[in-house]
Amino acid sequence: MSTLPITFEDVVAAHERLRGVAHRTPVLTSRTANERTGAQLFFKCENLQRMGAFKFRGAYNAIAQFTPQQKAGGVITFSSGNHAQAIALSARLLGVKAVIVMPHDAPAVKVEATRGYGGEVVFYDRYTEDREALGKRLAAERGLTLIPPYDHAHVMAGQGTAAKELFEETGELDLLLTPLGGGGLLSGCATAAHALSPACTVIGVEPEAGNDGQRSLRTGEIVHIDTPKTLADGAQTQHLGNLTFAVIRERVSEIVTVSDAELVDTMKFFASRMKLVVEPTGCLAAAAVLHGKVDVRGKRVGVLISGGNVDLLRFAELVQAAG
Ligand SMILES: *Cc1c(COP(=O)(O)O)cnc(C)c1O
Repeated sequence: MSTLPITFEDVVAAHERLRGVAHRTPVLTSRTANERTGAQLFFKCENLQRMGAFKFRGAYNAIAQFTPQQKAGGVITFSSGNHAQAIALSARLLGVKAVIVMPHDAPAVKVEATRGYGGEVVFYDRYTEDREALGKRLAAERGLTLIPPYDHAHVMAGQGTAAKELFEETGELDLLLTPLGGGGLLSGCATAAHALSPACTVIGVEPEAGNDGQRSLRTGEIVHIDTPKTLADGAQTQHLGNLTFAVIRERVSEIVTVSDAELVDTMKFFASRMKLVVEPTGCLAAAAVLHGKVDVRGKRVGVLISGGNVDLLRFAELVQAAG
């Protein structure tokens, strides 16, 4: 009997809830990438998901399971990245009020995007206030339900639907690589892989500057680090979650790292060769494959592109600086 926090049945149920709501994103191939790596690569394009990242899947799956009382009360989260927009959009679609706690100096585009989806933004001072404590206090005071960005069974099961769709399209694979921050995406996808392609080796990819996941898998205990300095802002997590790690330690073979320079090189590859805009964090898995961090020669390999939300000027600067 499995005692893991999520099962494949949870991923299947999440997929039912997302039917007709989330995009079934395309799986693209590239002759150039195949020639460069000697592998057969299948890119699952969650940069083309609604609101620009896979996070819509988990957020929607979580709010869709609220009780009538929770729906009436509303949802709150304290993440300012893609999860915030995913919560705001999902809440609007489900007729639920959303409150997003953001640092007072959050980029205006993020604040506007969140408000554009109908979310109420509450600011905090990142130097003097604890966002988690504030989130919990607001939740209690205002009767809101807190949905964290990764360490939640419904979020994890929702993220796993991305890999379910990939396997449905490609059949069994030798390898599956996904970006890794707090582990919602990796744990959900590994759960789908275990059921749909049992012999598939699942690998997480995190930024070199923050290899807490790699160290956690090696030592068997969740390693905590300071917020890492990396371009991969979606993977600037300080530790895996208790629930995500429980799945990752059972279902994931290895965690590898890539540098910021390798992420930028991969952004350029996607833009110039595949006509795709991918944010730095979204490039993690592909960068590992394109830069030889994993032996992929002769293998059929799934590569999850996790998101495409990058300010265009920033994108241009990064690509130009890399020459
Ligand atoms: C959140 C995020 C990740 C990391 O996902 P986790 O579930 O925290 O591991 C990767 N890529 C993008 C684009 C993200 O927004």
